Amino acid sequence: MHDDRDLVEARLRRVLDERIRPAVHPESVPLEVAVWHAPGEPVPVAEGLAATPGPIAVGREWGRPWGTSWFTVTGVVPREWGGRVVEAILDLGFAEDRPGFQCEGLVYRPDGTPVKGLNPRNQWVRVGSPAEGGEEVRLHIEAASNPIILGRDGFRPTALGDRETAGSDPLYRLGRMDLAVFDKTVWELVMDLEVLGELMLELPVDSARRWELLRALDRALDAIDLQDVNATAAAARAELAGVMAAPAAPSAHRISAVGHAHIDSAWLWPLRETVRKVARTAANMTALLEDEPDFVFAMSQAQQWAWIKEHRPEVWAKVVKAVATGRFVPAGGMWVESDTNMPGSEAMARQFVHGKRFFIEEFGVDNEEVWLPDTFGFAAGLPQIIRAAGSKRLLTQKISWSQTNAFPHHTFLWEGIDGTRIFTHFPPVDTYNCSMHGHELAHAARNFRDKGVARHSLAPTGWGDGGGGTTREMVAKAARVHDLEGSPAVRWETPAEFFAKAEADCPHPPVWVGELYLELHRATLTSQAKTKQGNRRSESLLREAELWAATAAVREGAPYPYERLDRIWKTVLLHQFHDILPGSSIAWVHREARRTYELVARELDEIIDGAQRALAGDPSGGTLLFNGAPHRRHGVPAGGAAPEPAPAPARDAAGPAARVVPRDGGGYVLADALLKVEIDARGLVVSAIDRRTGRETVPPGRAACLLQLHPDFPNKWDAWDVDAFYRNTGTDLTEADEVRPAGGTDGGTVVVRRSFGASAVTQRLTVDGGRLLIETEVDWHETEKFLKLAFPLDVRADRYASESQYGHAYRPTHTNTSWEAAKFEACNHRFVHVAEPGWGVALVNDSTYGHDVTRDVDAHGTTTTVRVSLLRAPRFPDPETDQGVHRFRHALVPGATIGDAVREGHFINLPERRVPGSAPVAPLVTVDDDAVVVSAVKLADDESGDVVVRLYESRGGRARATLRAGFPVAEVVTTDLLERQTGEPRREGAEVPLALRPFELVTLRFTRA
Ligand SMILES: [Zn+2]
Repeated sequence: MHDDRDLVEARLRRVLDERIRPAVHPESVPLEVAVWHAPGEPVPVAEGLAATPGPIAVGREWGRPWGTSWFTVTGVVPREWGGRVVEAILDLGFAEDRPGFQCEGLVYRPDGTPVKGLNPRNQWVRVGSPAEGGEEVRLHIEAASNPIILGRDGFRPTALGDRETAGSDPLYRLGRMDLAVFDKTVWELVMDLEVLGELMLELPVDSARRWELLRALDRALDAIDLQDVNATAAAARAELAGVMAAPAAPSAHRISAVGHAHIDSAWLWPLRETVRKVARTAANMTALLEDEPDFVFAMSQAQQWAWIKEHRPEVWAKVVKAVATGRFVPAGGMWVESDTNMPGSEAMARQFVHGKRFFIEEFGVDNEEVWLPDTFGFAAGLPQIIRAAGSKRLLTQKISWSQTNAFPHHTFLWEGIDGTRIFTHFPPVDTYNCSMHGHELAHAARNFRDKGVARHSLAPTGWGDGGGGTTREMVAKAARVHDLEGSPAVRWETPAEFFAKAEADCPHPPVWVGELYLELHRATLTSQAKTKQGNRRSESLLREAELWAATAAVREGAPYPYERLDRIWKTVLLHQFHDILPGSSIAWVHREARRTYELVARELDEIIDGAQRALAGDPSGGTLLFNGAPHRRHGVPAGGAAPEPAPAPARDAAGPAARVVPRDGGGYVLADALLKVEIDARGLVVSAIDRRTGRETVPPGRAACLLQLHPDFPNKWDAWDVDAFYRNTGTDLTEADEVRPAGGTDGGTVVVRRSFGASAVTQRLTVDGGRLLIETEVDWHETEKFLKLAFPLDVRADRYASESQYGHAYRPTHTNTSWEAAKFEACNHRFVHVAEPGWGVALVNDSTYGHDVTRDVDAHGTTTTVRVSLLRAPRFPDPETDQGVHRFRHALVPGATIGDAVREGHFINLPERRVPGSAPVAPLVTVDDDAVVVSAVKLADDESGDVVVRLYESRGGRARATLRAGFPVAEVVTTDLLERQTGEPRREGAEVPLALRPFELVTLRFTRA
């Protein structure tokens, strides 16, 4: 037989495009359109409905950037349409190729009832099937003219990313606004032709099934009268019935389709717009669930649910009803789909506490699945937190974005730093916006790496980010591939149903140990420095606020600020969303984030101050030093307060404060009893001797505290990515404008000033208690540059430790394999630690996350260089990223053990507070082993007055310790993160013996006597 494949395939494409799809709505009449443009920010629904609109014609421009326009459309169903299905086609001026990321609408009836959202691929509203015709139609559309930020021309800088710079030129042109007859048979024919045509193209050319499909499609097209598609569609469908009825092979891959809309809680739009995006999508999905009995939709991020409840009660009512059917499913159990690299231990825990609690309290749903399709890598501390929250499964899709190495599994056990294993699935469909296209389904089946031992995968299906979620077309296509020869078998299922099958499928899954590093988006550890600092500062302040408020409540009966802490936690958790904390949102989002973090800090300082004053007693009696860190400092116990010794706090076994003396050959020497640092005439640290051992920290001929400036223009994703080639070129900033002692009361400090490009930097170096403290102030006005602070260390190390949640993880310093080479920029929390047996160095920070560690070998041997990432200056999506003044604090701690690194990391983030008062404050809890770190002391969220203490083994070893409660205890129980009892109650009094495994996390709940 002659090969006419190309001819028939091209025929199918053209006839579908030009004849069959247009025949879905064969008759139409225009609607009358009027519009009212809200003058500023979005207005309440009632106000939009009540406004008086003026006329606007189809084809006219509308919509300044970030504006809201309320359209009113009116019309009458023609008498002759009686008995036929009628829809309104409402095209706001959509660009078809970007579902989401552009204008959107939510349709209301005149009484304020939401109908559904309008999105580029969801432009219809069912008017009904009036028996007689003549029915009057009146609909209102709350339309948002959100600009396209990431357009066809890629990652070009744009001023559209902030209302304040976006201008007022209209962005959209009103498209078709019609009443139209909907021909269901033609629409079904389109679905048949798409499903079979797409499937055909995925099958091997030498397979019989491919040719059977080709011949059937050819016959179906023959059956169409191109002048009267509507009259002949049924005949065309009949030609396809045979091939459509052929069942799937027994070995066919099984796909659990989960209706979904991945909605970024802020990204290329501000937070306030996400509130509306979520409402539009939820309105669409509740409507679709009513039409489609098999369909299942899952929505994640408790915050987004809470927004609907608070801001769109009319949509919330529909959601609540849909949840009761079991087919509108709360997915995951986090407050937002947060970043997981940067959030600190407690914040990561609270993502689960607040997320799970919302779903439990609202719906009685306690999910065991964690839903993080889009997060940029997964820290090795996470598995234990997932388990401690009462969950046990994880879904993410993002690792498929890795640039270098293909992850070897799609279904596996992920083992974290403490040994906890979480059943994990990466959907092989490689997208969280599956559209049920034949190519996607075939890719999932082909790509699935666990064939032979497992058969199930999950496909999150629907347009996210304002695309409206799952469409009726996706549901129609899924129905056709439920059991179809040549296709994976698809059915709608909840995430829990999928995981139950996947676990049954795969009783002995492979194991992946350690972080799930995303080999992409590495610059998200550095971009938007102030957002990152705001997060770190907020986390530290929340720790202090809970600790001191709980102490004041237990000791003084002071009221505990439950409501305020709950609200502030949720704010901080929201800002850990995977485009806010990573710095990948538009300028508007980060401008608001900076302001929000300021307000958070102010309110937490107020809570801390109030609690400390309540504890401090008579303010005329001197000064108390409050130590909020988990280790004793300056004679003050962890979590306690003691009178400040006059005139200055004694240094920890360090003797008198450091002094500055001139150095031979220029520069200065800074030294105390523990550390002697030489700063040369260039202002660089050329020597740092640990005086206890005599060990030199800086390799011969090298200089530490060296600023290095690299060009930084990635190929794509400017705020997200730093590409490996950035390291090929760069400048060492060795020229100093000034190197001098600070003088005055700040006598133990050397000040170094430099200027470069349009920027300037001032560093203040101080030696204190064996640490070299470095305060770096940068007035940053570069573009597309990367600023690093380098510390070459005379340490031979094959690996180094970075703090993660509730512990630390090791990474190699070499690049033996492509996996190691790809980790050229990685995340730390408060410390990085590099060591040889018996001696190590810690580098701690108060707000930076990105770093790299490399090794060199020269005539002197192997050395290790730790470089901290300070600032970047990408121009997309925020063209002014990081411009302005920044302050960072770091400390180099020669001679540090891993335990010292843990302690110093806490110290630099939790400075002591001086409060007028005289009454020492004994800690609420003490632990007699420094390896055990108390990460939270608070009152129980249920407002019972119980004291909750969370602690963990911090050094990666075993710890036997005793925890003593400094208050009368009736009973103590172990709990999960949600403070739900997990162990038997114990009543031995105020002492709790602890035996912890490496990095083990424990939550204790004390009922007070
Ligand atoms: Zn996302």
